[in-house]
Amino acid sequence: MPTASAAPEQLPESYRALRVELAGSRAIRTVVSLPSSELPDHDVTVRVSHSSLNYKDALSASGNRGVSKSYPHTPGIDAAGVVITSRDPRFSTGTRVLVTGYDLGMNTPGGLAELIRVPGDWLLELPAGLDARSAMALGTAGFTAALALRRLQAVGAGPELGPFVVTGASGGVGCLAVALLARAGYEVVASTGKAHAAERLLALGAARCLARQELAGDDSARPLAPAVYGGGIDTIGAATLAGLVKRTVIGGAVAACGLVGGSELALSVFPFVLRGVSLLGVDSQHTAMAERREVWRLLAGDWRLDPLGVPGLVNEVGLEELEGPIRQILAGDSIGRVLVRL
Ligand code: NDP
Repeated sequence: MPTASAAPEQLPESYRALRVELAGSRAIRTVVSLPSSELPDHDVTVRVSHSSLNYKDALSASGNRGVSKSYPHTPGIDAAGVVITSRDPRFSTGTRVLVTGYDLGMNTPGGLAELIRVPGDWLLELPAGLDARSAMALGTAGFTAALALRRLQAVGAGPELGPFVVTGASGGVGCLAVALLARAGYEVVASTGKAHAAERLLALGAARCLARQELAGDDSARPLAPAVYGGGIDTIGAATLAGLVKRTVIGGAVAACGLVGGSELALSVFPFVLRGVSLLGVDSQHTAMAERREVWRLLAGDWRLDPLGVPGLVNEVGLEELEGPIRQILAGDSIGRVLVRL
């Protein structure tokens, strides 16, 4: 049922967007004005007020064809705003909505723009208690951290198993995973490559920090390592994920969502068959709408985080100010979340 109905808004003739073009293998990023007539042929047009910058956006913005096949292209896997035109009876002018994932910003023009046009099936009405700015301060990162926590809870991997590690802890998914796990009563160990992020991670609820190389150290020949963690949430993959699984206690679980450190995984079956460890996949892009709705309801309520209230955690920028944050993410130097104001 449509929940908002305002006077039909005129579709502007043009809108501003971050446009990525490729010159050979070099990506050129500029803010341009694009004709609204070239928006894709989907049912719902949204005036985007806020978006965010994720690792995947930085890849798309640098010409990574594993994320976005054709250029010129507008990245942005997250968007929140207000419906201005709709051919879908579930949404009417004035409905406040958010979208994360699906094909947005991958091969469909994305949220780093003043307008998007998407299928109604991708849209979620903003849950009560969350405005567009707070929702995008969380964005795909917060949604993914919450999915990961739900996966751990679903297999009974609770705080009683011991400390849980979050890897890539200073990044977008990482810092929100630290805060969510701490809030749920876990003793959180924040694995980070940035000594200077320690204070912020402790403020978010981490009990202590661990240097990045501690988990990723060269123990590839050993099928198991001393079991000291209940499990964790991994955003890095490769040796870091393998190191965490090998150190997970009997009945523990690790939720894997990222590949910043690589996509290979060198593990024996021993953690699984001798310790019953669960390795849980997290995929925010294709999460079914019913679960999306439930997770965003939690994020607006019982699991509410306030990243905007933590000094230095959210870097809020305009469309013209994305170059620095994109480069920082690609260099692995980013801390926290990048919120984009349209
Ligand atoms: P960010 O860039 O915000 O954070 C990544 C963090 O990883 C960095 O801050 C850094 O943290 C660490 N890091 C960076 N480079 C390296 C490296 N070479 N080796 C080891 N660690 C490194 O990214 P996001 O939080 O947006 O995303 C993190 C990962 O999760 C990405 O791979 C992304 O694709 C994935 N992801 C997956 C989703 C899913 O649905 N499965 C959804 C969202 C993200 P530190 O210095 O603290 O170690």
